[in-house]
Amino acid sequence: MKAFAYVNPTSERDAVAAMTKREGVTILPMAGGQDLLARMKDYITTPDRLVNLKGALDGSVVAAPDGGLKIGSAMKIADLAEHAQVAKLYPAVARAAIEIGTPQLRNQGTVGGNVNQRPRCWYFRNEEFVCFKKGGSRCFATTGENQYHAIFGNNGPSHIVHPSSLAVPFVAYGATFRLMSPRGERIVPAAEYFTLPTNRNVLKENVLEDDEVLTHVILPAPGNVKTGHYEVRYKQSHDWPLAFATVVLTLNGNTISSGRVVLGAVAPTPWRSRPAEAALAGKPLNESTAVQVAEAAVAEARPMSGNAYKVQITKTAIKRAIMQIANG
Ligand SMILES: Cc1cc2nc3c(=O)[nH]c(=O)nc-3n(C[C@H](O)[C@H](O)[C@H](O)COP(=O)(O)OP(=O)(O)OC[C@H]3O[C@@H](n4cnc5c(N)ncnc54)[C@H](O)[C@@H]3O)c2cc1C
Ligand code: SF4
Repeated sequence: MKAFAYVNPTSERDAVAAMTKREGVTILPMAGGQDLLARMKDYITTPDRLVNLKGALDGSVVAAPDGGLKIGSAMKIADLAEHAQVAKLYPAVARAAIEIGTPQLRNQGTVGGNVNQRPRCWYFRNEEFVCFKKGGSRCFATTGENQYHAIFGNNGPSHIVHPSSLAVPFVAYGATFRLMSPRGERIVPAAEYFTLPTNRNVLKENVLEDDEVLTHVILPAPGNVKTGHYEVRYKQSHDWPLAFATVVLTLNGNTISSGRVVLGAVAPTPWRSRPAEAALAGKPLNESTAVQVAEAAVAEARPMSGNAYKVQITKTAIKRAIMQIANG
């Protein structure tokens, strides 16, 4: 691992000050270190300076004035998974948290680190493959091994799937993110935080500036909604999902007034499926609707050479998430 300086601030103010840009110095924030340290050991990421956020940023959940919740980004995933108010108001967030990795990962990993973890594409994770995402001039996945890559939003130049399980319910519930930098605070809707790759921004997966940190996730009052969340994975533990769905429905009796369908592990961002949402509105909450919605969602799928199997899995995840709601 390349040698680096280590800063250990004890307040948000000091952490933000420590992120101030310096000519020729790469500064990165570190939370649980589960993703970042692994990348550093593999020489994928080589910062000059690490700013430890664990003792500096808020790691608690407090009630927001509108009846929602404000989650500190330094909160451990395990604590989020076990938080009674989170489970009551935002069951898909609790469900996603419980299913992440292993107990060890959940005890060390944080909300902020989970949302900002980098892609798992094996070419990206291997020092020898200098692809678009590392400043190179090609994507090795297009003609190579792409079985875990995107089936939506596949315009390139990168074809990653976003790795965060928490990001998907955050988008589905309409969360906003509070970001802090030496220039001050800004609030960004979760749905606008994550970015599809383009030639201009392929090195990043979100709008976070180099000197910014995510301090809080703010979930609005959920209102009278019902939620389903279903993940499909090879292994029940120790791995990321192959495809998953968070569905948030507003119901009038047994009729769906409106809904949000957000898909994970199938696109470079949490993927809000507008065709699925259009297919939900005004329909009865039953299995036939669940099947139609799942079909509508995958109509816009564009699989790569090795991942067409994900289309069926995505349909299954959507259908089962909707049926969780139908079955109470
Ligand atoms: C075997 C295995 C299985 C896994 N399964 C899953 C899974 O199913 N679902 C899932 O979502 N994840 C999964 N993970 C990933 C794991 O959840 C993440 O690595 C972990 O959540 C990262 O959190 P951290 O606090 O350790 O982040 P760190 O490693 O400290 O940071 C991750 C990145 O985010 C940046 N960062 C950290 N905090 C902030 C902040 N507050 N503001 C701005 N940037 C920040 C860092 O600079 C770094 O680039 C798995 C990991 C492993 C090893
Ligand atoms: S999918 Fe993205 S990260 Fe993977 S090889 Fe292609 S450009 Fe690199």
